Amino acid sequence: MLQQTQVGRVLEYFPRWVARFPDLATLASANRRDVLVAWAGLGYNRRALLLHDAAKTLVERFGGNIPRDIETLRQLPGVGRYTARAIASFAFGVRTAVVDTNVRRVVIRYFGLTIGPNPSATARQVETLAEHLLPPRAYVRWNHAMMDLGALVCTSRRASCAKCPLAFSCRSAGSITPPERRSTPKETIPRRIWRGRIMSILLSRPPLYRATYKEIERALQEGFPRDPQPYLPDVLMSLARDGMVSIPSMSHHGLRSGFRGFIRLAE
Ligand code: SF4
Repeated sequence: MLQQTQVGRVLEYFPRWVARFPDLATLASANRRDVLVAWAGLGYNRRALLLHDAAKTLVERFGGNIPRDIETLRQLPGVGRYTARAIASFAFGVRTAVVDTNVRRVVIRYFGLTIGPNPSATARQVETLAEHLLPPRAYVRWNHAMMDLGALVCTSRRASCAKCPLAFSCRSAGSITPPERRSTPKETIPRRIWRGRIMSILLSRPPLYRATYKEIERALQEGFPRDPQPYLPDVLMSLARDGMVSIPSMSHHGLRSGFRGFIRLAE
Protein backbone atom coordinates (compact mmCIF):
# COMPACT_ATOMS: atom_id res chain seq x y z
CA MET A 1 0.00 0.00 0.00
CA LEU A 2 2.85 2.34 0.75
CA GLN A 3 4.26 2.08 -2.77
CA GLN A 4 3.22 5.40 -4.35
CA THR A 5 0.80 6.31 -1.53
CA GLN A 6 1.35 8.52 1.49
CA VAL A 7 1.23 7.10 5.00
CA GLY A 8 -1.78 9.21 6.07
CA ARG A 9 -3.93 7.68 3.37
CA VAL A 10 -2.72 4.14 4.02
CA LEU A 11 -3.61 4.54 7.72
CA GLU A 12 -7.27 4.83 6.68
CA TYR A 13 -7.23 1.71 4.51
CA PHE A 14 -4.89 -0.68 6.25
CA PRO A 15 -7.14 -1.56 9.26
CA ARG A 16 -10.10 -2.25 6.93
CA TRP A 17 -7.93 -4.37 4.65
CA VAL A 18 -6.54 -6.44 7.54
CA ALA A 19 -10.04 -6.91 8.97
CA ARG A 20 -11.18 -8.23 5.58
CA PHE A 21 -8.06 -10.34 4.90
CA PRO A 22 -6.60 -11.15 8.33
CA ASP A 23 -3.98 -13.61 7.03
CA LEU A 24 -2.23 -14.70 3.87
CA ALA A 25 -4.43 -17.78 3.42
CA THR A 26 -7.61 -15.66 3.43
CA LEU A 27 -6.17 -13.26 0.88
CA ALA A 28 -4.81 -16.08 -1.30
CA SER A 29 -8.21 -17.80 -1.43
CA ALA A 30 -10.19 -14.62 -2.26
CA ASN A 31 -11.22 -13.90 -5.84
CA ARG A 32 -9.87 -10.95 -7.82
CA ARG A 33 -13.09 -9.01 -7.58
CA ASP A 34 -13.17 -9.17 -3.75
CA VAL A 35 -9.60 -7.97 -3.67
CA LEU A 36 -10.27 -5.06 -6.05
CA VAL A 37 -13.42 -4.06 -4.16
CA ALA A 38 -11.55 -4.04 -0.84
CA TRP A 39 -8.81 -1.91 -2.42
CA ALA A 40 -11.27 0.55 -4.00
CA GLY A 41 -10.28 4.18 -3.50
CA LEU A 42 -6.61 3.55 -2.78
CA GLY A 43 -5.58 3.82 -6.44
CA TYR A 44 -2.93 2.04 -8.49
CA ASN A 45 -5.20 -0.99 -8.44
CA ARG A 46 -2.60 -3.22 -10.03
CA ARG A 47 -0.85 -3.30 -6.66
CA ALA A 48 -3.89 -5.08 -5.20
CA LEU A 49 -3.65 -7.85 -7.78
CA LEU A 50 0.11 -8.18 -7.33
CA LEU A 51 -0.39 -8.44 -3.56
CA HIS A 52 -3.03 -11.09 -4.18
CA ASP A 53 -0.63 -13.01 -6.45
CA ALA A 54 2.13 -12.66 -3.87
CA ALA A 55 -0.15 -14.10 -1.17
CA LYS A 56 -0.93 -17.08 -3.43
CA THR A 57 2.78 -17.66 -4.09
CA LEU A 58 3.56 -17.45 -0.37
CA VAL A 59 0.87 -19.98 0.50
CA GLU A 60 1.71 -22.38 -2.35
CA ARG A 61 5.52 -22.21 -2.29
CA PHE A 62 6.44 -21.08 1.20
CA GLY A 63 3.79 -22.70 3.38
CA GLY A 64 2.25 -19.32 4.22
CA ASN A 65 5.50 -17.90 5.63
CA ILE A 66 7.23 -14.74 4.42
CA PRO A 67 10.90 -15.33 3.58
CA ARG A 68 13.51 -13.06 5.20
CA ASP A 69 16.04 -13.36 2.43
CA ILE A 70 16.13 -10.40 0.02
CA GLU A 71 16.72 -12.41 -3.16
CA THR A 72 13.85 -14.79 -2.31
CA LEU A 73 11.56 -11.87 -1.48
CA ARG A 74 12.33 -10.38 -4.91
CA GLN A 75 10.82 -13.44 -6.57
CA LEU A 76 7.38 -12.45 -5.25
CA PRO A 77 5.00 -10.60 -7.60
CA GLY A 78 5.19 -6.83 -7.08
CA VAL A 79 8.31 -6.99 -4.91
CA GLY A 80 11.28 -5.13 -6.37
CA ARG A 81 14.63 -4.10 -4.96
CA TYR A 82 13.26 -1.44 -2.61
CA THR A 83 10.29 -3.40 -1.27
CA ALA A 84 12.38 -6.55 -0.65
CA ARG A 85 14.88 -4.58 1.39
CA ALA A 86 12.12 -2.69 3.24
CA ILE A 87 10.41 -5.96 4.26
CA ALA A 88 13.72 -7.52 5.33
CA SER A 89 14.70 -4.48 7.39
CA PHE A 90 11.43 -3.28 8.91
CA ALA A 91 9.66 -6.61 9.35
CA PHE A 92 12.62 -8.85 10.22
CA GLY A 93 15.35 -6.49 11.43
CA VAL A 94 17.83 -7.67 8.76
CA ARG A 95 20.89 -5.42 8.40
CA THR A 96 20.36 -4.01 4.93
CA ALA A 97 20.02 -0.53 3.47
CA VAL A 98 16.51 0.42 2.33
CA VAL A 99 16.87 2.58 -0.78
CA ASP A 100 13.71 4.36 -1.88
CA THR A 101 13.66 7.42 -4.16
CA ASN A 102 14.38 9.75 -1.25
CA VAL A 103 17.33 7.74 0.08
CA ARG A 104 18.67 7.37 -3.44
CA ARG A 105 18.72 11.16 -3.82
CA VAL A 106 20.47 11.64 -0.45
CA VAL A 107 23.17 9.06 -1.32
CA ILE A 108 23.74 10.54 -4.77
CA ARG A 109 24.12 14.04 -3.34
CA TYR A 110 26.15 12.95 -0.32
CA PHE A 111 28.77 11.20 -2.46
CA GLY A 112 28.45 13.72 -5.33
CA LEU A 113 27.70 10.92 -7.81
CA THR A 114 27.14 11.53 -11.49
CA ILE A 115 24.19 9.54 -12.87
CA GLY A 116 25.38 7.22 -15.64
CA PRO A 117 23.36 6.12 -18.69
CA ASN A 118 22.67 2.66 -17.21
CA PRO A 119 19.91 2.96 -14.54
CA SER A 120 20.44 -0.50 -13.04
CA ALA A 121 24.20 0.07 -12.72
CA THR A 122 23.46 3.36 -10.91
CA ALA A 123 20.90 1.60 -8.67
CA ARG A 124 23.48 -1.04 -7.72
CA GLN A 125 26.14 1.59 -7.06
CA VAL A 126 23.76 3.57 -4.83
CA GLU A 127 22.77 0.42 -2.93
CA THR A 128 26.42 -0.51 -2.36
CA LEU A 129 27.18 2.97 -1.03
CA ALA A 130 24.03 2.98 1.11
CA GLU A 131 25.14 -0.36 2.62
CA HIS A 132 28.54 1.17 3.30
CA LEU A 133 26.87 3.97 5.31
CA LEU A 134 24.89 1.59 7.56
CA PRO A 135 25.96 1.76 11.21
CA PRO A 136 26.88 -1.48 13.04
CA ARG A 137 23.85 -1.14 15.32
CA ALA A 138 20.46 0.60 15.16
CA TYR A 139 20.46 0.09 11.39
CA VAL A 140 16.65 -0.19 11.20
CA ARG A 141 16.32 3.24 12.81
CA TRP A 142 19.03 4.44 10.47
CA ASN A 143 16.87 3.40 7.51
CA HIS A 144 13.90 5.32 8.93
CA ALA A 145 16.15 8.34 9.51
CA MET A 146 17.55 8.26 5.95
CA MET A 147 14.06 8.05 4.49
CA ASP A 148 12.90 10.98 6.63
CA LEU A 149 16.00 12.99 5.74
CA GLY A 150 15.25 12.55 2.03
CA ALA A 151 11.56 13.31 2.50
CA LEU A 152 11.95 16.37 4.74
CA VAL A 153 15.44 17.89 4.51
CA CYS A 154 17.15 16.83 1.27
CA THR A 155 14.12 16.98 -0.99
CA SER A 156 14.07 17.03 -4.78
CA ARG A 157 12.92 20.67 -4.79
CA ARG A 158 15.11 21.92 -2.00
CA ALA A 159 18.19 20.80 -0.05
CA SER A 160 18.09 22.40 3.43
CA CYS A 161 21.80 21.91 4.03
CA ALA A 162 21.91 24.39 6.96
CA LYS A 163 19.85 22.00 9.10
CA CYS A 164 21.16 18.73 7.65
CA PRO A 165 23.14 16.47 10.02
CA LEU A 166 25.23 15.21 7.08
CA ALA A 167 26.33 18.68 5.92
CA PHE A 168 29.79 18.47 7.53
CA SER A 169 30.86 15.66 5.20
CA CYS A 170 28.44 15.91 2.24
CA ARG A 171 30.08 16.60 -1.13
CA SER A 172 27.05 18.55 -2.36
CA ALA A 173 26.42 20.65 0.77
CA GLY A 174 25.42 24.18 -0.20
CA SER A 175 25.59 23.51 -3.93
CA ILE A 176 22.15 22.09 -4.78
CA THR A 177 20.03 24.45 -6.85
CA PRO A 178 16.26 23.96 -7.18
CA PRO A 179 15.25 22.25 -10.45
CA GLU A 180 13.55 24.37 -13.07
CA ARG A 181 9.82 23.89 -13.17
CA ARG A 182 8.74 22.14 -16.31
CA SER A 183 5.26 23.07 -17.38
CA THR A 184 3.20 20.17 -18.65
CA PRO A 185 0.49 20.87 -21.21
CA LYS A 186 -2.80 21.26 -19.36
CA GLU A 187 -4.70 18.95 -21.63
CA THR A 188 -2.42 15.96 -20.97
CA ILE A 189 -4.12 13.41 -18.75
CA PRO A 190 -1.79 10.61 -17.65
CA ARG A 191 -2.92 7.11 -18.57
CA ARG A 192 -3.02 6.05 -14.92
CA ILE A 193 -5.75 8.66 -14.32
CA TRP A 194 -7.87 7.16 -17.08
CA ARG A 195 -7.25 3.71 -15.70
CA GLY A 196 -8.19 4.80 -12.18
CA ARG A 197 -11.38 6.50 -13.38
CA ILE A 198 -12.50 3.44 -15.33
CA MET A 199 -11.87 1.20 -12.32
CA SER A 200 -13.83 3.64 -10.11
CA ILE A 201 -16.75 3.55 -12.56
CA LEU A 202 -16.86 -0.26 -12.47
CA LEU A 203 -16.35 -0.42 -8.70
CA SER A 204 -19.26 1.99 -8.19
CA ARG A 205 -21.67 -0.50 -9.80
CA PRO A 206 -22.27 -3.39 -7.38
CA PRO A 207 -23.31 -6.15 -7.38
CA LEU A 208 -22.37 -6.94 -11.00
CA TYR A 209 -19.57 -4.38 -11.40
CA ARG A 210 -20.06 -3.98 -15.12
CA ALA A 211 -20.76 -1.26 -17.69
CA THR A 212 -21.06 -0.97 -21.44
CA TYR A 213 -18.46 0.86 -23.47
CA LYS A 214 -20.90 3.74 -24.00
CA GLU A 215 -21.68 3.98 -20.27
CA ILE A 216 -17.98 4.19 -19.45
CA GLU A 217 -17.47 6.78 -22.15
CA ARG A 218 -20.34 8.91 -20.84
CA ALA A 219 -19.18 8.64 -17.22
CA LEU A 220 -15.65 9.67 -18.22
CA GLN A 221 -16.95 12.74 -20.03
CA GLU A 222 -18.43 14.08 -16.78
CA GLY A 223 -15.87 16.47 -15.33
CA PHE A 224 -13.11 15.52 -17.76
CA PRO A 225 -11.70 18.17 -20.06
CA ARG A 226 -10.89 15.83 -22.96
CA ASP A 227 -12.91 13.51 -25.12
CA PRO A 228 -12.05 9.98 -23.91
CA GLN A 229 -12.92 8.34 -27.22
CA PRO A 230 -9.43 8.36 -28.83
CA TYR A 231 -7.85 6.79 -25.70
CA LEU A 232 -10.53 4.56 -24.30
CA PRO A 233 -9.93 1.41 -26.38
CA ASP A 234 -6.19 1.43 -25.58
CA VAL A 235 -6.76 2.01 -21.88
CA LEU A 236 -9.42 -0.72 -21.67
CA MET A 237 -7.14 -3.17 -23.44
CA SER A 238 -4.31 -2.39 -21.04
CA LEU A 239 -6.63 -2.98 -18.05
CA ALA A 240 -7.70 -6.29 -19.59
CA ARG A 241 -4.07 -7.32 -20.16
CA ASP A 242 -3.31 -6.58 -16.50
CA GLY A 243 -6.20 -8.79 -15.43
CA MET A 244 -8.27 -5.98 -13.91
CA VAL A 245 -11.23 -6.06 -16.27
CA SER A 246 -12.65 -8.65 -18.59
CA ILE A 247 -13.90 -7.83 -22.07
CA PRO A 248 -15.75 -10.65 -23.86
CA SER A 249 -14.23 -9.88 -27.24
CA MET A 250 -10.62 -8.90 -26.69
CA SER A 251 -10.59 -7.16 -30.03
CA HIS A 252 -9.25 -3.66 -30.34
CA HIS A 253 -11.22 -3.17 -33.51
CA GLY A 254 -14.37 -4.38 -31.71
CA LEU A 255 -13.96 -1.67 -29.08
CA ARG A 256 -13.36 1.08 -31.62
CA SER A 257 -16.35 0.13 -33.71
CA GLY A 258 -18.86 0.39 -30.86
CA PHE A 259 -18.58 -2.66 -28.60
CA ARG A 260 -22.04 -3.51 -27.21
CA GLY A 261 -21.32 -6.14 -24.55
CA PHE A 262 -20.37 -5.55 -20.92
CA ILE A 263 -16.96 -4.67 -19.60
CA ARG A 264 -16.65 -6.22 -16.14
CA LEU A 265 -14.43 -6.02 -13.15
CA ALA A 266 -12.18 -9.10 -13.15
CA GLU A 267 -13.43 -12.10 -11.17
S1 SF4 B 1 24.08 18.49 3.12
FE1 SF4 B 1 22.53 19.22 1.70
S2 SF4 B 1 22.83 18.07 -0.18
FE2 SF4 B 1 23.96 17.02 1.43
S3 SF4 B 1 22.55 15.45 2.18
FE3 SF4 B 1 22.28 17.26 3.48
S4 SF4 B 1 20.61 18.43 2.57
FE4 SF4 B 1 21.32 16.95 1.03
